[in-house]
Amino acid sequence: MSLNFPLYLDNAATTRTDPRVVEAMLPAFTETYGNPGSRNHAFGWRAEDLVDTARRQVADLIGADRKEVIFTSGATESNNLAIKGAAYMYEKAAAGSGKPRGHIITGNIEHKATLDPCKRLQKEGFDVTYLEPGPDGVFTREMVENAMRDDTILVTIMWANNEIGVINEIPQIGELCHDRGVIFHTDATQWVGKMPTDVTRDNIDLLSLSGHKLYGPKGVGALYVRRRRPRVRLVAIQEGGGQERGYRSGTLNVPGIVGLGKACELCASEMDTERDRLRALRDRLEQSIVSRLDTVQVNGHAEKRLPHTTNISFGFVEGESLMMACKEIAMSSGSACTSASLGPSYVLKGLGVGDDLAHSSLRLSLGRFTTEDEVNYAADAIVTAVTKLRELSPLYDMHNEGIDITKIEWQAH
Ligand SMILES: *Cc1c(COP(=O)(O)O)cnc(C)c1O
Repeated sequence: MSLNFPLYLDNAATTRTDPRVVEAMLPAFTETYGNPGSRNHAFGWRAEDLVDTARRQVADLIGADRKEVIFTSGATESNNLAIKGAAYMYEKAAAGSGKPRGHIITGNIEHKATLDPCKRLQKEGFDVTYLEPGPDGVFTREMVENAMRDDTILVTIMWANNEIGVINEIPQIGELCHDRGVIFHTDATQWVGKMPTDVTRDNIDLLSLSGHKLYGPKGVGALYVRRRRPRVRLVAIQEGGGQERGYRSGTLNVPGIVGLGKACELCASEMDTERDRLRALRDRLEQSIVSRLDTVQVNGHAEKRLPHTTNISFGFVEGESLMMACKEIAMSSGSACTSASLGPSYVLKGLGVGDDLAHSSLRLSLGRFTTEDEVNYAADAIVTAVTKLRELSPLYDMHNEGIDITKIEWQAH
């Protein structure tokens, strides 16, 4: 067995760019380097052809028409454009009228790239409902239905959660929104490219995706904007040269767009076999860890989750210490993962996981380049590290002696 260290088990944070993607991108830097906006010479036409091809590749992956794809710098920008753009377009009451400008529904365990635009809109006079999931982390159609109001203008719920991989009832929520005439956006960054997507079948109006989460380059992504039934319109957030139907001004990142297109094409052709392969590897990894340790818990719904992700809490071990003990493996812990603060993950807390267990969790996310040997190595290393750290833990000793440590009254000195 030959392994290349450190091992990479953090594919939910970013993926390695597939070498076939890099190869497709290279000519766009040095040969086809025209500005696709140059309408009057061959350099411009050739660059525009490349962008057209990529637009079709992205559209094909999600069942869209190529005219419905807007290129952006990534999912953060796509979410901002979708959420703010739809809110400003469909607002029901004027700013300063004393009434809410409109009502928006989202979830409290969404990515910050959704939560922060929603908070901004709240400051500007929109009402926002932050749904709370049950302990399995799933957002259901029923939860959204119960939160709907006469002045609801937008629902934004992610397709799959980035920390726990849990999958929400997206087609059902989309159907509800279409019945009520409410615009529906989904942050599908963790879903698209890994799982089958059809924006028409799945009732989606706006969908965000990102290149670097699906083996494409960083700094490029797309927003799907439905053009028919209903025709969705947005207020542009970035203004200028009027590129991308006026929704996203700025010279197109042609090499990045070419890479995103190629990455989408590869995902489409390899999706089915990859999904089965990764599910088997993930289950093997998870089983191998869970069956050899006590006081562990897999977070999120057991079945409704992405096949390549697992999030596990280990009682009596700090996630950060565990990561330090396994430096040869790149993974994420349940604390400090999105911010500079060391607080426990708001996503795990949102599921009702206690602070202790939230602090002691690991997210392991596999990808296209993960091998069986890597998974076997990681499982052994994690089990060994947890066992060693627990040997040093007086709390774990007390737990084994049957003392309920939540009931201990610590003496103040
Ligand atoms: C990574 C991620 C984002 C941010 O994507 P960028 O392209 O890095 O801006 C947004 N939402 C989810 C769910 C993500 O996983």
